[in-house]
Amino acid sequence: FPSKLPQVGTTIFTVMSALAAEHDAVNLGQGFPDFECDPALIDAVTRAMKAGHNQYPPMPGIAALREAVAAKIKALHGREYCANTEITVTAGATQAILTAILAIVHAGDEVIVLDPCYDSYAPNIQLAGGTVVRVALTPGTFRPDFGLIAAAITPRTRALIINSPHNPSASIWSAEDMFTLQDLLASTNILLISDEVYEHMVFDGAEHQSAARYPGLAARAFVVSSFGKTFHVTGWKVGTVAAPASLTAEFRKVHQFNVFTVNTPMQHGLAEYLRDPAPYIQLPAFYQAKRNLFRQGLEGSRLKLLPSTGSYFQCVDISGVSDLSDSDFCQWLTREVGVAAIPLSAFYGNGFDQGIVRFCFAKRDETLRDAIGRLRKL
Ligand code: PMP
Ligand code: GLN
Repeated sequence: FPSKLPQVGTTIFTVMSALAAEHDAVNLGQGFPDFECDPALIDAVTRAMKAGHNQYPPMPGIAALREAVAAKIKALHGREYCANTEITVTAGATQAILTAILAIVHAGDEVIVLDPCYDSYAPNIQLAGGTVVRVALTPGTFRPDFGLIAAAITPRTRALIINSPHNPSASIWSAEDMFTLQDLLASTNILLISDEVYEHMVFDGAEHQSAARYPGLAARAFVVSSFGKTFHVTGWKVGTVAAPASLTAEFRKVHQFNVFTVNTPMQHGLAEYLRDPAPYIQLPAFYQAKRNLFRQGLEGSRLKLLPSTGSYFQCVDISGVSDLSDSDFCQWLTREVGVAAIPLSAFYGNGFDQGIVRFCFAKRDETLRDAIGRLRKL
């Protein structure tokens, strides 16, 4: 039968993790921590299981978790979401994004994505029958070019997907960027999917600019978060979507027939754990120290460090080391040097290769030191 996604293969993250395992390489490719989460979080989940929270929870998620998330957004961004009608618990950000797209995109609608972007967006849009419209972030700085975004808008534009802090470039959007976007969308009906999974990883005193902070954006936005990233549990696959009631109602229509609901004990554990803001308030300092360790280790090496202002990624320019394509370089680096990375070309619709690869520094300090030792030999 005809493939619905003929151009899609296995994701680069799966491919590079398999190669890293095969060659016993330090895996700085796929983004996930190699350290444990807070034992208190495991205890909270275990207690929930033992207390009998093991059957289907309510379809949108348990009330305690939705209320905790609404309170957190209010405290951090000043916007009040109704826990009952505006917050939904999802099976990670991946399902949140797919479900939002399925809920709003009709056949023939256009959805603007900003290249480079996370690899699930485009196939999600295609599955909904939409057309992917790719607008490049400015090469070098990875800043949004609002002139190009404005030029890409047509009467068929249904939605725009943004992502700050940004995977893969580690750039972040400023308040000015958000105001500019708010002005740009003001006279349109374009919906916004704001992928904020790295919301608690912003460095050097910068503040995360959630779409929830900007009334003109929040009114049209699905704001997507992931506990996997924030609490070092990527394998749990629990996230949330905050969106105005009218959008949430449509989102839940799809959600109920997509996953119906998300596993119960994790929701109880997370709701309890969220009572203390310390873990996510301390996260920027925690990851900034790792970023600094990794950057300092590579300073003076032949890899040129690009800025890393948010997320848990560090991009490097490989032109001083190799003239291989970024993909071939990542393969070679994994096999011969024993460090896995992700080529930036994998995040572009047209495979644009600018000689940049991405490392993930969500790793134990000893893992980072091991990788640094290998990379300094280049
Ligand atoms: N969006 C971005 C930008 C990501 O980096 C990731 C994680 N790889 C996701 C979404 C998916 O998050 P989750 O693991 O919660 O599904
Ligand atoms: N978000 C992670 C990354 O960008 C991994 C996601 C995945 O494996 N699908 O590396």
